[in-house]
Amino acid sequence: MDRLLINRVLKSINEEIILIYYISLKTGYYFYVLGSSNFIYKIIVNKNYQKCNCEDYFKTKFCKHICFVLFKVLKVYKIILSNFELKLNSDHLQDTEFFKTKIFPKLDWFFIKKNFKNIKKYIRSNFFDKDYYDKFNDFYHQFHYLIYKKIEPTKNECIICMSEMDEGIKCPVCKKFYHTHCLIKWLNKTDSKNCKMCRSDYWNLCYKYMVLLENKKIDKKYIL
Ligand SMILES: [Zn+2]
Ligand SMILES: [Zn+2]
Ligand SMILES: [Zn+2]
Repeated sequence: MDRLLINRVLKSINEEIILIYYISLKTGYYFYVLGSSNFIYKIIVNKNYQKCNCEDYFKTKFCKHICFVLFKVLKVYKIILSNFELKLNSDHLQDTEFFKTKIFPKLDWFFIKKNFKNIKKYIRSNFFDKDYYDKFNDFYHQFHYLIYKKIEPTKNECIICMSEMDEGIKCPVCKKFYHTHCLIKWLNKTDSKNCKMCRSDYWNLCYKYMVLLENKKIDKKYIL
C-alpha cells in the first residue's frame, strides 16, 4: 500500500475542496477547484495524462486535487476504507492499474468520459458552488472572447523579443503579434499596460482576464 497516495485520496475526500468550474476542451477535461487556502487550481484530465498547477504536482506529478476530481467529482474510483484498497467504481468494484501507471486503462477512461457527460448527476452541493460556477463562467467567456481568440498561428516576429513565432497573440488594434509570455511579462512590469506598438488600451482593459493564460494557481479574489 502506497501511504502517500492513500493519504492524498483521504485528504481529497475529507478536506474542503470546492469544484467551481468544469469544461470539456480539445485537450481534455478541465476542472477548476478552490482549495482551503483560497487559491484556485486547474486540473486537466486527459486520456494520456493528468495535470494540476499546485506545488505538490510539480514535485511528485500527482496531487489531492486530481484525486478530488477522480474520486469525489467523477466517482470513477473508490477507496475501500476497511483495507484502503483503491478500486475502479464499476458495477462490481474492479482492480485497476491506474495508480501504478498513472495512465488510464481503456475501461477507466470509458468511465471518465461517461461520467463527465453526466457530470450534473455526480455533483453534490457539499463540494460544488453554483454562484462560483456562474461567476467563473462569465469570467471564462470574457477571457475566451477577449484573449484566447486573439491567439493565432503566425510566422511574424514577436514585437518584444524579436524572435520568430509559431503562434502569437494579436493586438486587435495594430494587428501586431506578441508571444503570450512576452506580452504578459511586459504588461506585468508597465503601469499603463498599453500596447507596446500602438499604445491602445486594449490590453489594459482586459488585463485581468490574463490570469487564466498563466499556468499558476490564482488568488480567489481575482475571479470570485
Ligand atoms: Zn493539485
Ligand atoms: Zn517574444
Ligand atoms: Zn497594438
